[in-house]
Amino acid sequence: MPAAVEQQISGAEHIELVERWTAHNYHPLPVVVARAEGVWVEDVEGRRYMDMLAAYSAVNFGHSHPELVAAAKAQLDRVTLTSRAFHNDQLGPMCEGLARLCGMEAVLPMNTGAEGVETAIKTARKWGYQKKGVPDGKARIICCKDNFHGRTTTIVSFSSDAQCRAGFGPFTPGFELIDYGDLDALRAAIDDHTVAFLVEPIQGEAGIIMPPEGYLRAARELCRERNVLFIADEIQSGLGRTGRTFACEHEGVHPDIYILGKALGGGILPVSAVVSTKEILSVFRPGDHGSTFGGNPLACAVARRVVEILATGRYQDHARKLGAYLFEQLGALKTDKIKEIRGRGLWAGIELHAAAGQARPYCEALLRAGLLCKDTHAQTIRLAPPLCITRDELDWALARVRQALA
Ligand code: PLP
Repeated sequence: MPAAVEQQISGAEHIELVERWTAHNYHPLPVVVARAEGVWVEDVEGRRYMDMLAAYSAVNFGHSHPELVAAAKAQLDRVTLTSRAFHNDQLGPMCEGLARLCGMEAVLPMNTGAEGVETAIKTARKWGYQKKGVPDGKARIICCKDNFHGRTTTIVSFSSDAQCRAGFGPFTPGFELIDYGDLDALRAAIDDHTVAFLVEPIQGEAGIIMPPEGYLRAARELCRERNVLFIADEIQSGLGRTGRTFACEHEGVHPDIYILGKALGGGILPVSAVVSTKEILSVFRPGDHGSTFGGNPLACAVARRVVEILATGRYQDHARKLGAYLFEQLGALKTDKIKEIRGRGLWAGIELHAAAGQARPYCEALLRAGLLCKDTHAQTIRLAPPLCITRDELDWALARVRQALA
């Protein structure tokens, strides 16, 4: 057994191990979490912190949600993996529940968010060739600048973030970037070879960027008129975060394809899915696409419970009500450090003026005060607590934010 598991070692020693033995593709805050429950996490030295990131919305229902943990434990004792070479008794019920939750007809389950996005890209291209009549190899997909859809080679091919791409070429062709929120740019970019418009209803990693009011609705209509698939990447914005099941709902938008991930796995394991109509997903034939772990019974047992929880609407209502309070309180902050506050539901980005310095030192100060936040795009502090957070807990967090920004 490795030494780290055998003996109790300090947080600093854990960080040293990570420095020594892992690739340095992350820059985490110096806290070593050992256990967690609800909105609270505890480090190896027993210090308690409130989680204001919720694993980028993967922990929407709180850490160790008892019903989700129970679903996982029960399934662990039955069967965890069959591959799709055989059927399992969790896949069908999970997909039925998820399709109904989305107002859709069919599901293609995968694991990580990036795989979900890759799957949606393949779906749109094949749909373009088979159903729209685009000449083979000519399909184009329109995406937005400052997007974040994941880290695979194809996905970074249409990133506008220089660091995401640097050193990883050659890139996959067939993508075009337009300004987020610019409807005229979308209209001008669509041609006969355009198969899809891939968009985040709120750009999370870009700094919780909201599109102009009415943009999503108008873009959706335009796509319908021009026979272009409207693909909503709701991996981070979906499943309750914004106060509705999907962020698209705020504009009454129903996309052709939802891409889901993160919270779908209940914060327990990676589960992603492309959810769409039968007509669109019928482009796949056996052997076209898949993943050994996609649709595995353990993942489906947890996701099934996630869907049941979301079907009650409780978390969405709570996020909407408490989110209104969060923005009211943030709006009342008395400080000259804040340039803009953006977001919806329990998802807020606090962008700082350049003169106030970067967001990272504020996140470090908040860590020392017991609040785990993460900076995004240098100037923005993001607040995205588990949706089970109570008003008292939110007040506790806001007091620390107020102090850090004073
Ligand atoms: N799409 C969006 C909107 C995301 O926010 C993310 C991750 O942050 C992804 C895709 C990629 O998901 P994953 O990290 O599970 O591959």
